[in-house]
Amino acid sequence: MKPVRRDFLLELPKPELHCHLDGSLRIETILDLAQKGKIELPATDAESLHKAVVVQGRVKTLEEYLDKFQITLSVLQTPEALERVAFELAQDAAAENVRHLEVRYSPILHLEQGMTPMESLDAVIRGLRTAEHEFNISTGVIICGIRNFSIESSIELAELAIAYKYRGVVGYDLAGAEENFPAKDHLEAFYLIRNNNVNVTLHAGEAYGPQSIHQAIHYCGANRIGHGTRLREDGDLMNYVNDHRICLEICLTSNFQTGSIENIKSHPLKFYHDYGLRISLNTDNRLISGVSLVDEYMLAHKTFNFNMLDFKDFIISGFKSAFLEHRERTKLIKEVAHTIDDYLGVGSHKY
Ligand SMILES: [Zn+2]
Repeated sequence: MKPVRRDFLLELPKPELHCHLDGSLRIETILDLAQKGKIELPATDAESLHKAVVVQGRVKTLEEYLDKFQITLSVLQTPEALERVAFELAQDAAAENVRHLEVRYSPILHLEQGMTPMESLDAVIRGLRTAEHEFNISTGVIICGIRNFSIESSIELAELAIAYKYRGVVGYDLAGAEENFPAKDHLEAFYLIRNNNVNVTLHAGEAYGPQSIHQAIHYCGANRIGHGTRLREDGDLMNYVNDHRICLEICLTSNFQTGSIENIKSHPLKFYHDYGLRISLNTDNRLISGVSLVDEYMLAHKTFNFNMLDFKDFIISGFKSAFLEHRERTKLIKEVAHTIDDYLGVGSHKY
């Protein structure tokens, strides 16, 4: 079997389920958008801007990490800007052979210059659709409600997700500050979401304990969990997550940067994988965390010594939990599984 090498990982078709639009821009695009829109940035050259916006080492709190988004959001207040960054994100993902990309963002953070939530969403979907035509990638938008914003705003965003279901939107999420802002405060939004059969993934167990994951699953109906880093603290809940094949969207670098783990080695990824949990690897924020998806795979390999078969598991797991129609997903999984088996020379299996 092939050894783990960056170029091999690059060639494997991969899913990415957890990637924030406003954390995954190109530095040059920020500079260009700022210049065109006459927007002031903390730095005007690529190198200094990179220092200001990409986390160096780690931050002290999740909130400090989230503050970086003020810079990216300042240039994302027009439909043109959103369409462009959505297209470029899908292009960057396609360049490392991401075959299915779910892009999450919160329309409510893009209204400063008078854009409506619908206009912002239309722009993001346009950018992604153009990329789908140009590259071998499928995409979907996950709308993020924000934990530390009002209940009304999460309801409004839930209504938007429902209106755009099957029209570009594939799911609903809660992002933002986890500590002190429990998901169950937003129950009304999830009542709407669940009544309308919209897929749910929730940031949980990143900056707060397993109770947050419990709420995400049992109060909000989460089909997947964003991070789930602290799930290991509750063995019973971990068994539930395992038995119900609830996928954990793992983001190693981001977890280290936000202080969710002490160091990469102490991340429970290996334990989760050995235990049989359904895992996918993700970037969280390509720019702000300073990573690509293949970087994250390489980091997982270097830290935990995963081999190519482990990566095949992560990849197939991610595709299995993608927010796609079942028939479409089955087709994609079969195609991807055969490609990977051929590539790795491991013979074909049933999926
Ligand atoms: Zn995230």
